[in-house]
Amino acid sequence: MSLKIAIIGAGPAGFYTAEAALKHWGGAAEVDIIDRLPTPYGLIRAGVAPDHQSIKAVTKRYDGTAGGQGVRFIGNVEVGRDVSIDELRGLYDAVVLSLGAPLDKPIGIPGDDLPGVIGSAAFVGWYNGHPDFAGLEVPLGHHGVAVIGNGNVAIDCARVLAKTPAELATSDIAQHALMALEGSGVRDVHIVGRRGPHQASFTTKEAGELGHLERAQPLLRAGDLPPLEEDAALEPGHRKMVTHLRGFAAAERSDKPVTIHFEFFRRPVAVEGHDKAERLIVETTRLEDGRAVGTGELHAIPCGLVIAAIGYRTPPLAGVPFSEQLGRFESDAAGRIGAGLYASGWARRGPSGTIGTNRPDGFSVVEAMVADGLAGGAAGGAGLDALLASRGVRATGFADWQALDAAEVARARPGAPREKIVDMAEMLALLG
Ligand SMILES: Cc1cc2nc3c(=O)[nH]c(=O)nc-3n(C[C@H](O)[C@H](O)[C@H](O)COP(=O)(O)OP(=O)(O)OC[C@H]3O[C@@H](n4cnc5c(N)ncnc54)[C@H](O)[C@@H]3O)c2cc1C
Repeated sequence: MSLKIAIIGAGPAGFYTAEAALKHWGGAAEVDIIDRLPTPYGLIRAGVAPDHQSIKAVTKRYDGTAGGQGVRFIGNVEVGRDVSIDELRGLYDAVVLSLGAPLDKPIGIPGDDLPGVIGSAAFVGWYNGHPDFAGLEVPLGHHGVAVIGNGNVAIDCARVLAKTPAELATSDIAQHALMALEGSGVRDVHIVGRRGPHQASFTTKEAGELGHLERAQPLLRAGDLPPLEEDAALEPGHRKMVTHLRGFAAAERSDKPVTIHFEFFRRPVAVEGHDKAERLIVETTRLEDGRAVGTGELHAIPCGLVIAAIGYRTPPLAGVPFSEQLGRFESDAAGRIGAGLYASGWARRGPSGTIGTNRPDGFSVVEAMVADGLAGGAAGGAGLDALLASRGVRATGFADWQALDAAEVARARPGAPREKIVDMAEMLALLG
């Protein structure tokens, strides 16, 4: 009797878990990958920057998994709304939560609820055409933007804001975002971090790219850099990244109209403004035992948009143990939550690592399933189909995604890989 596995989330973690299950059980497993959107690939479609197309090529591998024997992609089904975890646990021998960490962590400072303050999940979702954020109000009329955070997501946000429309034209940035950016008045993008260049978690490629933008120059205060000899203690990749930052600090000031300011040693303390964000107040910090400690010296960064790129949380699901402190499900190191219930990817370990980091996660969950000696016998997909039909839920399949994909490619701007359909109703109407 084949093992029936439901995987919630068609992002990298979901696909790698499915791949591991097929590798282990072959035709003796039936895997349903369920996603709330009719489009698969999670953050590869909705997170990875639109001007980094080569990274998105990994979806070819997932297509191989989705098209494999015994695997179904079931789109437009939201777990927690259309079907509950308890129902899925009744219908499948194993349920794996691979639903990522789609919520922005709150900044937690006065004024963070003002219009003009948004999280990076929302901002990135907006420019990537995620249906949840396609209608987001992104104020781009002010010359200043503050991006809080010192990771690659902060750099992605800054770069997209700084690029010319021509630099973005060959990306798959959503049409509404490209149009809004064309009329943008943004001239100063501030990347704000509590600690210094050595503590930043930018990678070399992302930092280096800022030195090659058509109309923008990166800038940082030379005094924020530690003495050169201290770079020797850094891991080689990180040292290269810091070398880029040193280059930015030493470069001649150009006449490029946009400046990307690295604001190291600045702790955000408040957003101020009359009924909308007008400035971010930051406190200068210094390092004590690796921790940022406030000095009491305050500065104002004028800005009409504040983007918090400070991390993500997984939403809790009824009946699943959840750590409020960590913002993710509680599981053991292998991803085991309870009998027949597992987690992989960001939903298990939080928002860290690269796409590839999710692969071992999928394999460790399958090893846990094997160790748990799961037996087949559950109703599986046939039971889910009947339940969804009884509720009038219009589930979509992989062939539907392929039809949407073809429609997006067909309507692409010249030179762009696709023009994303950003409205769920339009997607479903197109599918008939
Ligand atoms: C802005 C950004 C840029 C990034 N750029 C890179 C990069 O350049 N290179 C790199 O290696 N990594 C990058 N990453 C990291 C990479 O995207 C993640 O490691 C990876 O996507 C995490 O995979 P996941 O499957 O756990 O989550 P996700 O990719 O988020 O997938 C989760 C899936 O679950 C679905 N889902 C959520 N809730 C439900 C529900 N209730 N019911 C059904 N389905 C649900 C979602 O629709 C989604 O499809 C980036 C991340 C971000 C945020």
